[in-house]
Amino acid sequence: MTVYTGPVFEMAASQFETIADYIEIPADERPRLLYPKRAVTVSCPIHRDDGSVAVFHGYRVQHHLTLGPTKGGTRFASSVDMGEVGALAIWMSWKCALAGLPYGGAKGGITVDPSTLSLHELEALSRRYMQEMIPFVGPHTDVMAPDMGTNEQVMAWFMDTYSMYQGRTVTEIVTGKPVSSGGTVGRREATGRGVVHLAMRAAERAGITPLGATAIVQGFGNVGSVAALELALRGVKIVGVSDHTACLYDERGLDVPALVAHAAQHRGLAGFSNELAADPATLLTRRCDILVPAAMERVIDGPTAQALQCRVLAEGANGPTTPDADRVLEQRPEIVVIPDILCNAGGVIVSYFEWVQDLQQFFWEEDEVNQKLRTVLDRAFDKVFARVARDKVSERTAAMAIGVERVRDAKRTRGLFP
Ligand code: NAD
Repeated sequence: MTVYTGPVFEMAASQFETIADYIEIPADERPRLLYPKRAVTVSCPIHRDDGSVAVFHGYRVQHHLTLGPTKGGTRFASSVDMGEVGALAIWMSWKCALAGLPYGGAKGGITVDPSTLSLHELEALSRRYMQEMIPFVGPHTDVMAPDMGTNEQVMAWFMDTYSMYQGRTVTEIVTGKPVSSGGTVGRREATGRGVVHLAMRAAERAGITPLGATAIVQGFGNVGSVAALELALRGVKIVGVSDHTACLYDERGLDVPALVAHAAQHRGLAGFSNELAADPATLLTRRCDILVPAAMERVIDGPTAQALQCRVLAEGANGPTTPDADRVLEQRPEIVVIPDILCNAGGVIVSYFEWVQDLQQFFWEEDEVNQKLRTVLDRAFDKVFARVARDKVSERTAAMAIGVERVRDAKRTRGLFP
């Protein structure tokens, strides 16, 4: 399977081997569970504003279709390749299965730094990518959503492009759309809200009272900024934040609404304050009660895990902790880890609610969305921590095992065609 290469895919494969050993999956059953069912790569030409033509490479991976359509975000980032997207699709599968959603995992993306595109170029690229994907996706085959570098506007362009080709409005082809275009209330905030709801549950287990507790958040996009706001709302002092443009630290606590307003206006945290500028290399290992990595993969390696001074590690990002770091964290039971596939599941859970509402054309109030979100998250959280207690395994092993087992059971009962 040479198309899936690189450190991120190796990490997903290594985690799967750990789970497969733990739940004793026979060797000949493992590749069927690990390797994605389908993958496609497309080249997307667009006219640049200066009149030249540029070609960008896009990908989409569908991990398994055993439980229903696949579901997953679309990432626009320079790092995107088949291996990264494949790993993210696999994690989506375990995440959806853990939350009890009727989906397999998928992921897609384009190798591009979106900050180098004008708005017009971003729209052209988004629409061309969606057009290239039409033979591969569908509301009952593969449903897209936002991820790093994409947002509600990009989802609206995806939906519009797909709909133009169908000759009717098909809102259920993507989730994470603006509410005015068939999106659901509460989706934009769902991932960050879910992260914080579970961080509060973990804090309770660690004996931390939110009022006056401290938190550090890495990444200040959709997930990080909402998580910081929600933590602040609960009385948690945000002492450190960072994004790709700046890193800020203030032990007295940062003004989160002012940071959000600044980041929205200036497309990042840069320029907010020179006095509070800090070293991004040491942000994650500063002392705090709750640490929320909400940017990218593999930021916590073995030495970083050894140096962590938090008591709750709430993984907002996908794959922020390497297998080496997991081995260190297993020896540090004083840190409660909320693994990514549980911690950031709020996004796909509310995406599922959006898809259901679009299919029925029957829309819910925000209270109902948030209440149902908490119910699904609590159920998954309780299952994971019951498994940790029962089998004396790490939180990640417990969470992934529950996800893998559900997919495996479904494959077994459906059988192997033909
Ligand atoms: P986003 O594009 O809205 O924000 C990403 C943030 O990370 C930005 O603030 C960016 O500046 C920052 N960043 C990038 N490189 C950085 C670096 N080297 N150091 C510090 N910050 C850096 O993306 P997002 O949707 O918030 O996604 C963030 C993470 O959460 C990703 O791992 C994504 O897969 C995961 N996730 C997102 C959702 C969702 O609903 N958006 C759901 C589940 C998981």
